[in-house]
Amino acid sequence: MNLKKYINDIPDFPKEGVVFKDICPLLASPKATDYAVDLLAKGLHDINVTKIVGIESRGFLFGLALAQKMGVSFVPIRKPGKLPGAILQQKYALEYGEDCIEIQEEAIQPGDYVVVHDDVLATGGTAAAACKLVEQCGATVVQCNFLMELGFLDGRSKLKQYHLHSLMHY
Ligand code: IMP
Repeated sequence: MNLKKYINDIPDFPKEGVVFKDICPLLASPKATDYAVDLLAKGLHDINVTKIVGIESRGFLFGLALAQKMGVSFVPIRKPGKLPGAILQQKYALEYGEDCIEIQEEAIQPGDYVVVHDDVLATGGTAAAACKLVEQCGATVVQCNFLMELGFLDGRSKLKQYHLHSLMHY
């Protein structure tokens, strides 16, 4: 199955000059989503995984499905102010300005083997910040996986110390 058939290019969204990769056609196909989750799980064959972290918001969609398939816990990483209780924060640079993501302090423990999942790897800032949060919890990042990787933005260079697995490359 060619997953790229389920990704639409939307020019000038959310702003002029950006070609947005829209995963909604993929979400609309039970067969294609099932296939994508299978491929993500196969990429973890033989790796000890105790938790899957998904990054808000599209990282929740396949992150949760992957966690269920593997029989491990799902942990959300969210934008500031969304998670209750004690949280850890990580700021990261954007093209203009900075952003911040949070995780619940108790969600991941030392000794956990964690997969960080998001839909798209672009410049890599979000995923790198997510990995730092996991490591602040004392856990190990065993893989970062993505539905797609926008190679021309070189997100890989920010994630050199991690194993990466992307289902689609652009
Ligand atoms: P990065 O931090 O530049 O790697 O951006 C990754 C984040 O931006 C992910 O959470 C994605 O959901 C989002 N993102 C960036 N580009 C796209 C796109 O073309 N389609 C959908 N999401 C995108």
